[in-house]
Amino acid sequence: MTGKLPFEALSVETLATRLGTNEALCAKIGKDASAWKVREVGDGNLNLVFIVEGASGGAIVKQALPYVRLVGDSWPLPLKRSFFEYHALTRQERRAPGSVPAIYHFDEGQALIIMEYLAPPHIILRRALIEGRQLPNIARDIGLFMARTLFRGSDLSMVARERKNDLALFADNVELCDITENLVFSDPYFDAKLNRHTSPQLDGLVAELRADRDLKVEAQRLKHIFAANAETLLHGDLHSGSIMVTDTETRMIDPEFAFYGPMAFDVGMLLANFWMSFFSQRGHEQNGKRDAMRAYLLGVTTETWAVFRAEFSLMWRTERDGMLYQKSLFEDQGDRLGSEQALDNVLHQIWEDLLGFAGIEVHRRILGLAHNADFEAIANEDVRATCEAKALKFGRHIAVNRRQIHSIDEVNNLAALIEQESSI
Ligand code: ADP
Ligand code: MG
Repeated sequence: MTGKLPFEALSVETLATRLGTNEALCAKIGKDASAWKVREVGDGNLNLVFIVEGASGGAIVKQALPYVRLVGDSWPLPLKRSFFEYHALTRQERRAPGSVPAIYHFDEGQALIIMEYLAPPHIILRRALIEGRQLPNIARDIGLFMARTLFRGSDLSMVARERKNDLALFADNVELCDITENLVFSDPYFDAKLNRHTSPQLDGLVAELRADRDLKVEAQRLKHIFAANAETLLHGDLHSGSIMVTDTETRMIDPEFAFYGPMAFDVGMLLANFWMSFFSQRGHEQNGKRDAMRAYLLGVTTETWAVFRAEFSLMWRTERDGMLYQKSLFEDQGDRLGSEQALDNVLHQIWEDLLGFAGIEVHRRILGLAHNADFEAIANEDVRATCEAKALKFGRHIAVNRRQIHSIDEVNNLAALIEQESSI
């Protein structure tokens, strides 16, 4: 198969025939395509994902479709998202080695990526957290991934010309940015067509949030930052469904939303997913108390942010080679304090903005189109609504008051207080 053929979606039946002569795939899993076993994974929202296993190993074949898989051809979405996912994965591997699946092959015309199969016991982090598993390394691994990719993709590190070229390349990821711009920042705050929420339990609270002027102004301020602050190459969709884990390993997958945006966006979205997991635990307690799990999750947010700050600070001191905050103005003049002051400012801005992005992310997962399994898997709708209402209240508080919140302990204390309230 070459990129010159017209695009054609793969199927379980056609995959071995169509990719049977692909050298990279044969080298990885074995040449005898008639012996390949092909399965569709099926839990992706946007794309086709196949697991292919041959005599000597397995691989993932991920192919974009000209529409949103979950919705069908009534919602067109360009194939080029595969191009952005491929280019994001190669940059992430360079900037944070070992943190993403290895790439074996990319075919732009067929919009397909052949990559490393993260075989069981790898599972999606969100699933592990719903099961109540406490994974020991995620805070460290994800904190390092975010610090390294966000710092090294910015003008703190890159050669200005290279970064500007890269910015131009990713600027074309218009349609996926548009999804975030609408689904995350706007739809939750008005009666948008694709919205849904647990009803009637949350109807009152939903009306209240849509009438909340301070919240709407803040959400639009954050959308403005998201759209206008092309600071670094973001993953763009870094939630617990985009991370695969074992007890010892952590890998980030699915960066098709990658584009140049504010550092705080990835960090805020990620932490929001830990806080949502925290608020959802009450709905998963049939098989035993989740007190230890709740404490673990708050600990993960604290540690992730601490690891992020420490690694970011280390890179600031040891590899700040871009055109921002040049050493010639600080260290080279013996002014280490000036450099540290600038670092504090940068980290402070990330902190303030990440709280906003986190609050908005919580809202859109409960009020918008794309809900997450943490809450959805709670079968009892009253219990689910209680968990969701607490999360909504928490999200509103951290988004609107983000400039007055000074530490992650403060945020976690608030989360614990709200979680313990008996009613909504
Ligand atoms: P989409 O972009 O359509 O959401 P994802 O990249 O999230 O697709 O993949 C969908 C699912 O396929 C994931 O939730 C995961 O279960 C599985 N998957 C994706 N990539 C890999 C991989 N490299 N190894 C193992 N499983 C994977
Ligand atoms: Mg995806």
